[in-house]
Formats: sequence, structure tokens, C-alpha cells
Amino acid sequence: MQLQSRIPVAVLGATGMVGQRFIELLQGHPWFELVALAASEQHGGRPYAEVSRWRLSGEMPVSVAKLPVLPCRPDALAGVKIVFSALPAEVAGEVETAFAQAGVAVFSNAKNYRMAADVPLLIPEVNADHAAAIVQQRKLRGWSGCIVTNANCSATPLVMALKPLQQAFGVSKVLVTTLQAISGAGYPGLPSYDILDNAIPYISGEEEKLESETRKMLGTWEEGRGFQDAPIVVSAHCNRVATREGHLECASIELGREVSAEEVIAAWERYMPEPQQLQLPTAPRHALIYRSEPDRPQTLRDRDSGHGMAVTLGRLRRDPILSYKFVALGHNTIRGAAGGSILNAELCVSKGLI
Ligand code: NAP
Repeated sequence: MQLQSRIPVAVLGATGMVGQRFIELLQGHPWFELVALAASEQHGGRPYAEVSRWRLSGEMPVSVAKLPVLPCRPDALAGVKIVFSALPAEVAGEVETAFAQAGVAVFSNAKNYRMAADVPLLIPEVNADHAAAIVQQRKLRGWSGCIVTNANCSATPLVMALKPLQQAFGVSKVLVTTLQAISGAGYPGLPSYDILDNAIPYISGEEEKLESETRKMLGTWEEGRGFQDAPIVVSAHCNRVATREGHLECASIELGREVSAEEVIAAWERYMPEPQQLQLPTAPRHALIYRSEPDRPQTLRDRDSGHGMAVTLGRLRRDPILSYKFVALGHNTIRGAAGGSILNAELCVSKGLI
């Protein structure tokens, strides 16, 4: 698909971990033109290069260095059609509502609206049909804009791994243990003294989000009936470990019927959902990559697969309690945050919802 002209977009929370990923991934985007940056009022419109230290590899893109860092208000970002929100939950709710009311399409990384009854919690490879909830959301709330959320960064790789299995065989139970990178806690995140040489078996609210968001995304959306959760029991253990980026997850699952390991791997490898069929600009060629080596996926070596947008799977084997167990890995600030949000926007544009 080709657009006649690029859509003007802005990033809210542009100085943070996810905000910087948005800036990086929007460079040269064929559909979206990054025209404005916003963060807290403390920056007072000063140039991005002056108020923000670039923490990703390479140099700060020259196209943003001189952009003023504006406040997160619709009147300050007039003319912008889409905002990508990388705001903390404490402020995201109010700010995102104001933009949606003002006619702007908001693609959010914050938790505030994820479980709302009229807000899509979207992963285009998993539940592209849920995007249609935007129509009802606009009617119900009287917004000319809209809010679309993406999942918690630990839910994303798990749900992407489960979807083809749910479709092919049914999934009834999931037990998952995560090893989550420190960038998931934002910048500056945890003090180095707390996390170096350590693993912390607690991330506030994370296990509840992983459990409930998985059921919403693997559930259904129907006009009139709304969202129905998938009847899947999910039990999560979430741990913070001393890696920089990439969430590794060890999952055991109960399938709906007896299948061979070859059939499970084939379901993953043949999975070709809507974003890949439509060849959306940010969609990886293969959403799921299965590695047959006994020691893969590894956080450091596999998190950048498919430019950080693919989920890498491995170590599929029989589980003595449930049916199978395996390992999944997803890049938390790309697939689980900024890249996921941009793909959501591409899907909504391609469906004519924006
Ligand atoms: P972060 O590094 O702490 O960045 C937060 C951003 O929000 C900064 O740009 C900050 O700008 C801005 N901000 C803070 N208070 C503000 C206010 N009152 N008004 C306007 N802007 C304000 O956090 P992050 O890791 O990027 O996370 C952003 C969001 O994405 C969170 O909701 C998080 O839960 C979610 N998320 C994160 C990840 C991840 O892997 N990190 C993954 C999925 C979802 P200043 O420079 O002005 O302080």
C-alpha cells in the first residue's frame, strides 16, 4: 500500500526508553512523518539534543536534534494526526484521553486503557480483528480520535507464540516464567547496586498484566458483544534479571489435543498472519522464528531477530505435567513497545480506521 502523503505523527514521552525507540524506528518511515516531540513541561520547548541524552546505539538522528520538546497537550501539537505515547501510567490516562477527544489517534504503551471494554489491546499478528472496536469506541465516547493500546512487553512474545497453537490445536493452560531485561523498567530504572549480579523475583503488577492481557488478546471481539476472554488459565512468574534488553520466557502449555512436536513447530513456522500478508512496513518477514539448537533462543544473540520485531522460539519438548514446554524471546522496547505500536498504527491505517 502507498499513501499519497505521509501522515504527520508525534511521540509523547520522547526522552524515555520507549520514546527513543519510537524516534529511531520512525526514521524514514514510508507512511509516517515524525514532526513533533513531547515530554514533561520541564523542558520548556528547548531542542531535543539539549534536553535528552541518546541512549540507543549510534547517534541521535539529526532530524530530531533541533526539534523543540513540547508539552503533551493537543494544542501544542496542532496538525498531528497520530501520537505514539510512551508516557508513564501516572500521566498517560489523562493526556491520551485529551488527544483522542481532540481527534488524534493515540497508540499507547501505557497500561491505563489496555483492559477497557472498548479499547483494542492489539498485536496485529494475533488479533487484527480487534482493531474494529475503534468504531464502537468512537460512538460510545464521542471521540473523533481513538486509543489503541499494545500489550505489556512480557505478554507480547507469549501471546504471539500461543496464537498459532490456539488456532491449530486449542490451548487450555499456560504456566510461564519470565527473565525480563532492565530496560523494561524505563530509564534510569533500577539502581545498578540492586540489579547487577542479581535476579529479582518481583515486578510490581507484571504477573497480573501478563495473565489478564493474554486472555483478552487471545479472546474474541464481536460488535454488540464486545471482548470475550479466551478460556485459558494463565499462571505467570515474573523476574527481573541483569540483561539490558529482551524478555526471555519459559512456558509450559496444555494443548487441546494430542499432537507431535513436529506439528507444533510447523504451526509456528507456517504462521503467516495479516501483517505479513499485507507486508506492512514494520512487519518482520516471519513473525515467529524457531531455532533448533539446544541452547537458543538467547537474549543477547536473538533479541534483534527481524529487526527486533520477530519472536524467537526454541527448546520445544514434552512437559511431564502439561503437554509441551518451550522458550520464547521478544525485544521489549521494540516488539513489546515502540515497534509494536507503530505496527498497530500501520494496521489501522491499512484497514481505513484512521
Ligand atoms: P521512561 O524511560 O521512564 O520514560 C518516560 C517518559 O515520559 C519520558 O520521556 C518522560 O519525560 C515522560 N514523562 C514523565 N512524566 C511526564 C509528565 N508528567 N508529563 C509528560 N511527560 C512525562 O519510561 P519507558 O520505559 O519509556 O516507558 C514508557 C511507557 O511505556 C510506560 O507506560 C511503560 O509502562 C510502557 N512500556 C515500557 C516498556 C519498556 O520495555 N520499557 C515496554 C512496554 C511498555 P521527561 O524527560 O520530561 O521526564
